Amino acid sequence: MSTIAQNLQGVETRIASACQAAGRDPASVRLLAVSKTFGAPEVRLAHAAGQRAFGENYIQEGVDKIQALQDLALEWHCIGPVQSNKTRLVAAHFDWVHSIDRFKTAERLSAQRPPSLPPLQVCIQVNLDGGENKSGVAPDQALALAEAVAVLPHLQLRGIMTIPEPGDEETTRAVHAQAHALWLRLKSTGLQLDTLSMGMSSDLDVAVSEGSTMVRIGTAIFGQR
Ligand SMILES: *Cc1c(COP(=O)(O)O)cnc(C)c1O
Repeated sequence: MSTIAQNLQGVETRIASACQAAGRDPASVRLLAVSKTFGAPEVRLAHAAGQRAFGENYIQEGVDKIQALQDLALEWHCIGPVQSNKTRLVAAHFDWVHSIDRFKTAERLSAQRPPSLPPLQVCIQVNLDGGENKSGVAPDQALALAEAVAVLPHLQLRGIMTIPEPGDEETTRAVHAQAHALWLRLKSTGLQLDTLSMGMSSDLDVAVSEGSTMVRIGTAIFGQR
């Protein structure tokens, strides 16, 4: 068995125990394998071990990998910042975008999504703890952005993504809990959301216990970058 296959098993076990501890169904948490900085061969190993959904931060690197792996049925998620000059590439190649933090980006993705493809699945990135070096809309602007994005053609709004600042477990848990509360609040307005994208290699367990429905795991699957 490849190291990547073993690591994937380990991550699935972590998800299952976190779900058990939280009284959740393990099927309610999807695993996104973050393959940024790793190559097509590593993605092939993960695919051979049963993994289908992959996340990329850097658009051009992601598109190169998507093209090199066209023989496999994979689902590609863009989880990094999307500059205006990259929206066309993203709209043409990715299945999901987790990092929508302004209306203009969503509008461009909507206009540029090839009509032959299914709607692009999108999440609003929310900056809950005010970290200065990351994108994300402020929590009090999330509803307005979500409502505006939800009605754009060729996009389907699925939920929100959050990336807590590195911190101790208690602080991280509080940020995840705020994200969960915000997600519920958005849903209570009638938005049809099923995705709370939160949790990385170091905080997967806390994220699952606070309600994550999709964890984005790089290091724990592919190794140190
Ligand atoms: C790199 C990255 C991840 C994965 O992080 P690990 O700590 O390697 O699991 C998840 N989400 C985003 C947005 C990332 O940039």
